[in-house]
Amino acid sequence: AKPILEVKQLKTYFSINGGVFSRKIGEVKAVDGVTFSVKEGEILGIVGESGCGKSTTGKSILRLIEPTEGEVVFNGQKVTALSAEEVRKLRRDMQMIFQDPYASLNPRHTIEKIISEPLNVHGIGTKEERKQKVAELLETVGLRPEHAKRYPHQFSGGQRQRIGIARALAVNPKLVICDEPVSALDVSVQSQILNLMERLKDEFKLTYLFIAHDLSVVKHISDRVGVMYLGRLVELADKDTLYERPKHPYTKALLSAVPVPDPDITNERIVLTGDVPSPSNPPSGCTFHTRCPSCMDICKIKTPVWRDVGNGQFTACHLYNETTEKEMIK
Ligand code: SF4
Ligand code: MG
Repeated sequence: AKPILEVKQLKTYFSINGGVFSRKIGEVKAVDGVTFSVKEGEILGIVGESGCGKSTTGKSILRLIEPTEGEVVFNGQKVTALSAEEVRKLRRDMQMIFQDPYASLNPRHTIEKIISEPLNVHGIGTKEERKQKVAELLETVGLRPEHAKRYPHQFSGGQRQRIGIARALAVNPKLVICDEPVSALDVSVQSQILNLMERLKDEFKLTYLFIAHDLSVVKHISDRVGVMYLGRLVELADKDTLYERPKHPYTKALLSAVPVPDPDITNERIVLTGDVPSPSNPPSGCTFHTRCPSCMDICKIKTPVWRDVGNGQFTACHLYNETTEKEMIK
């Protein structure tokens, strides 16, 4: 399948202002040079601890946050070069599902108004057709047409996420950016929503960029998985390769912290020392070097290159850098 989304060297920095004149005194490198692509029909998972830049990456792709540098190409269109008006139109094809369905649903609006909002924005259908569409969508996501007259507070967390999903699907998007869609839900409800999302993906021929901090949720739903640390991708591979044969020391550490259900499999735990450094003052070279059990001298000076180490497994680590390997043999 061809890529539907290409993200090239995406950077999103936030300025920190302060002092008497509220001048720029620093910068948070929330997203710091992220490159990946999503194939049509696939689910690409992005994992990482909170604050690693996953959500900012998602919002920067949709330009809900303006990226500082880099390029986003969606369906052959350069999103980063479009005017605000053109981006608004493009959001018919690129929708987002948010982590907190309650915060993203206007409490004073009926479910009908909420779900039909994207239809209004894009001027789709007559009033009667929109009403009909809302009723259909409610059934599609496992709710009932009569729910249209109710308000968000009358629903459970899981139901509210179903409403958020219905709203995203109203305009028949091609790509849905899912930002921690089940993180706020009870574990029992999580699998229901994940199953629903998988079914809808096939039914509506969708592509998902699925952002989450929970490794098992991402493993369950994704075809390929990318791992982020401090605003950068450190590894990306198809799901089985990433979970069974991770290469980057950070991925290895993350995975070793997940309990293994089979007691015969010994999972050697890698305990990372120290906290995640601040993105306003990231370490030099490889930003993981302050916590990496395999840190070498070069890691403190040189930023490792993001490269394919075989079979579409990408990583940014000097351990897998050809020139480093040669130097080490010497
Ligand atoms: Fe560790 Fe060096 Fe690889 Fe960074 S580049 S993950 S510090 S070995
Ligand atoms: Mg987030």
